[in-house]
Amino acid sequence: ERARLEGLRSTPAVTKDGKRIYLCANVGNVQDIRNALPMNIDGVGLFRSEFLYMQNTHFPTEEEQFVVYKEAAELASQELTIRTLDIGGDKELSYYEFEKEENPFLGWRAIRISLDMKDMFKEQLRAILRASAFGHVRIMFPMIIAMEELKNAKALVKECMKELDERGQAYDKNIEMGMMIETPASVMLADEFAKEADFFSIGTNDLTQYILVVDRGNKKIAKMYDYFNPAVVRAIKQVIEAGHKEGIKVGMCGEMAGDQKAVELLLDLGLDEFSMSAGSIDYVREQILNRE
Ligand code: PEP
Ligand code: MG
Repeated sequence: ERARLEGLRSTPAVTKDGKRIYLCANVGNVQDIRNALPMNIDGVGLFRSEFLYMQNTHFPTEEEQFVVYKEAAELASQELTIRTLDIGGDKELSYYEFEKEENPFLGWRAIRISLDMKDMFKEQLRAILRASAFGHVRIMFPMIIAMEELKNAKALVKECMKELDERGQAYDKNIEMGMMIETPASVMLADEFAKEADFFSIGTNDLTQYILVVDRGNKKIAKMYDYFNPAVVRAIKQVIEAGHKEGIKVGMCGEMAGDQKAVELLLDLGLDEFSMSAGSIDYVREQILNRE
């Protein structure tokens, strides 16, 4: 079984009707990328940058982040999708005191924090930009609910580009800036967002939680936490259609993308990129190659 799956690694994931599907890894650090490389990945679809912040004693500086992102970009040279800081909700920092909130998952988290703490955010953006001189790097913003957020985040990237120009530091001037689709608002506005974003990546972990109003970590209602719920499936369909209508690629980096049972459905819906933890890649590739 193992040998057979490993034998498929050199076969590009092309469906029987000829569509090339991109198989990427979700990673939390550089070592995760090294571990995923033997699976012959097409890149990293989700680099969860928050771990760099959580395993630290201070907000990592531009320089500290640059070193990490550069190494990641060199390893995952075909594509490295760095998600900007996704903290808050259940993820805390030892060196920063968050105000207590009644509903942390509906609270101050992810892009909301980044846009409120602009200087801190720009340290990260400059680090990502500088790493983009060493591989195909993409920037991805988490938890977007409004066009203004996306536009403000993109404007900050532009500011950072100017600053790097002044310093004479290199970066990819055409760096792609995309967003996670993990809130119901972003699904409903996907047709608008598709005009502003360079790519979408569907985060089914949060999207399922927010569409079904089911806490993703609550065992008591785990049965209800189901991304095959037709409400979630329709949302995914709508997002892929909206993205394709504007000619942008739509990926998925939530757990659903690594679920063998979801592969056929997601291919039917037209998903372009599947990003998952390394351990699932061989199995998903097999499903794609075998699909009628
Ligand atoms: C998601 O919400 O589906 C996702 C990929 O992000 P995270 O699991 O890190 O919230
Ligand atoms: Mg999420």
